[in-house]
Amino acid sequence: MNLKQLSFDEFDGFLRELGWPKYRAQQLRDWIYKKHVSRFDAMTNLSKSDRALLETRAMIGEPELVRQQRSTDGTQKFLFRLSDGQEIESVLIPDEDRNTLCISTQVGCTLDCTFCLTGTMGLLRNLKAHEIVDQVLWVLRHLESRDPLTNVVLMGMGEPLANYREVTEALKRLTHPKMVGLTPRRITLSTSGLVPQIKRLGESGLNVNLAVSLNATTNAVRDRLMPAVNKLYPLETLLRACRDYPLPPRRRIFFEYVLLKGVNDSEADAHRLLRLLKGLRCKVNLIPFNDYPGAPFGCPDDETVLRFQKILIEGHLTAFIRKSRGRDILAACGQLRTETPSAPALINSLS
Ligand code: SAH
Ligand code: SF4
Repeated sequence: MNLKQLSFDEFDGFLRELGWPKYRAQQLRDWIYKKHVSRFDAMTNLSKSDRALLETRAMIGEPELVRQQRSTDGTQKFLFRLSDGQEIESVLIPDEDRNTLCISTQVGCTLDCTFCLTGTMGLLRNLKAHEIVDQVLWVLRHLESRDPLTNVVLMGMGEPLANYREVTEALKRLTHPKMVGLTPRRITLSTSGLVPQIKRLGESGLNVNLAVSLNATTNAVRDRLMPAVNKLYPLETLLRACRDYPLPPRRRIFFEYVLLKGVNDSEADAHRLLRLLKGLRCKVNLIPFNDYPGAPFGCPDDETVLRFQKILIEGHLTAFIRKSRGRDILAACGQLRTETPSAPALINSLS
């Protein structure tokens, strides 16, 4: 029994089975989620015999770090091997005032966006809740204490809302004050636009930030860039769900817009984007395309990117250009892909 697989309530149940009092469950959870200890013999507030009993009944699993790369800009990419041999990547992005960890939610991705390297892998499998949380725990444990982790973004490999159950369970554990205890407003989930799950997330009370990858201003272009998701939930359906999303006070939806040279970067696109987002409490993040070997798209020049941003700002939309980080180690948005052994082309499913 890997104790990290247990939800909060299951954890209590397991300790009840051992015949232990309830406060003991919290002691154990503190060791795992607050002090990041993975060996029972380090748990000094448990008696020797209790620790010995735990050894016979349980363990605390950890992902295996296979490779760690550091970019010239300080960004770090971690390649983790999971218990079944599958591999995922997480990226730590230090900035002046924050330290952001970008985590994966699937091995590969359910979807097939044509500009994204992860999309070319297909879906190998969904991550379990504890495998999502483990990426955060590993970094918390190994991070130098002068740089605390401030933000977590679900923007690594995978479509988080296509793995709804495990992702929301992971978010519960990440935000539960008696587990990892991060503040929900420091966590952002990015989706390509799965409308029913956006609604469920809005009703879930999890209160994390929502980012939506829009990437196009017409269905014709979006069909080309994000064929699977846009066929199911075209622009008008997606934007309706965003307008209906129950945003907490003082929060905004983030829209991500990957700028692709000659495809969606024209002045007409910028004006259309303004019209589409009119009246929505939102912020736009422009992401100049991050290249990778064999990519079918190009990155617009700086002038085009700045012009696009200027039109949005003049139209009173908050728009930032996302600095590309870690490009030299293929750690930037859309550049994550692992060489998983003998990847059978599993059926893509939107379950
Ligand atoms: N599946 C989710 C989250 C992971 S992708 C989603 O699509 O939102 C995270 C972000 O990276 C998305 O906004 C996506 O549009 C962007 N992205 C993907 N490939 C990219 C690339 N090659 N260059 C720049 N951004 C990219
Ligand atoms: Fe999946 Fe997001 Fe990449 Fe699309 S952009 S293939 S949804 S990871």
